[in-house]
Amino acid sequence: MPLLDSFGRVHDYLRISLTDRCNLRCIYCMPDLRMQFMPPAALMQAGELITLARHFVSLGVKKIRLTGGEPLMRKDAAQIIESLGRMPVKLAITTNAFFLDRFFDLFDSIGLRSLNISLDTLNPDKFKSIAQKDSFLRIWKNIDTAVNRGFHVKLNMVVMREQNLSELPDFIELTRTRPLHVRLIEFMPFAGNKWNYGKTVSYAEMLELIESKFDFEKIEDAKNDTARNFRVSGATGTFAIISSVTNPFCSTCNRIRLTADGKIKNCLFSREESDLLTLLRSGGDVQKQIIESIRGKHAARGGLPPFESKGAAGEFEKNRAMISIGG
Ligand code: SAM
Ligand code: SF4
Repeated sequence: MPLLDSFGRVHDYLRISLTDRCNLRCIYCMPDLRMQFMPPAALMQAGELITLARHFVSLGVKKIRLTGGEPLMRKDAAQIIESLGRMPVKLAITTNAFFLDRFFDLFDSIGLRSLNISLDTLNPDKFKSIAQKDSFLRIWKNIDTAVNRGFHVKLNMVVMREQNLSELPDFIELTRTRPLHVRLIEFMPFAGNKWNYGKTVSYAEMLELIESKFDFEKIEDAKNDTARNFRVSGATGTFAIISSVTNPFCSTCNRIRLTADGKIKNCLFSREESDLLTLLRSGGDVQKQIIESIRGKHAARGGLPPFESKGAAGEFEKNRAMISIGG
């Protein structure tokens, strides 16, 4: 039986956060340096995480993406990845690439070929001001290695008016000669990241800027894809825009999130969570709870008002910070 919500949407894609910790501190994701991290006892242990993942797979999940925080920071990340790699799912990961060099061989051995890597600037100094750590060169080297080893690499750039909008054409230039897939992401509101609607560089604005500098064509979007995909004429790679704020993809959403402390979130923006980990630990019926959570999913934005409405920023602020949800 597929995991259906009351609007007929099938949910077969699970994002699991391995940790709410990160070696970087990107301003849009982990803005508050005094952030309270989850205590170790509250986190899913490796065995618990695998058991919960199995429940989701029994309920029809076909794709699992590991995320965080920084998933590759977790000490038992390799063990978890190996176990998930044996399940009948497509396994993918979103990472900041800092520790990637330690995992290439494992990814090769289990057939994990798709890497989503966050990168918001090509300038080492600016990297330091956005991610609050001086790590650009190491990360760039790992991205280069990933491409040379034949991984399918998507570069996720959160476009911010003041910090990196001017670099958007440089990112698109990268796709001309390299098999890179640049994804331009609209800045979204979460706890503490000081979002307001005017700070989001919209899909329309990005496209207008790109049109003024490049010849490009629309290419096909995958089913349930949140990205609108394009290719510069004759380019090796592609680019895409993810417009979660100005043109949300709620009507075709197939995503479920499991936080590092074992809570299911049926929507990125939902404040309603159910505690699967406590249920698992007490021997409760986990699958029933998963089914109920998906049935209770709102039509759009976790039931919150449109992003452009008055007071929206305050509503979305009441969610967790992105780092403790899992993007
Ligand atoms: N540490 C990993 C990384 O950076 O790729 C995985 C976790 S990170 C939370 C997952 C994705 O969420 C990243 O691509 C990041 O750029 C994106 N993200 C975080 N905060 C965001 C925000 N406020 N708006 C849009 N995207 C955001
Ligand atoms: Fe860490 Fe990723 Fe968030 Fe940056 S976006 S702080 S790398 S979890």
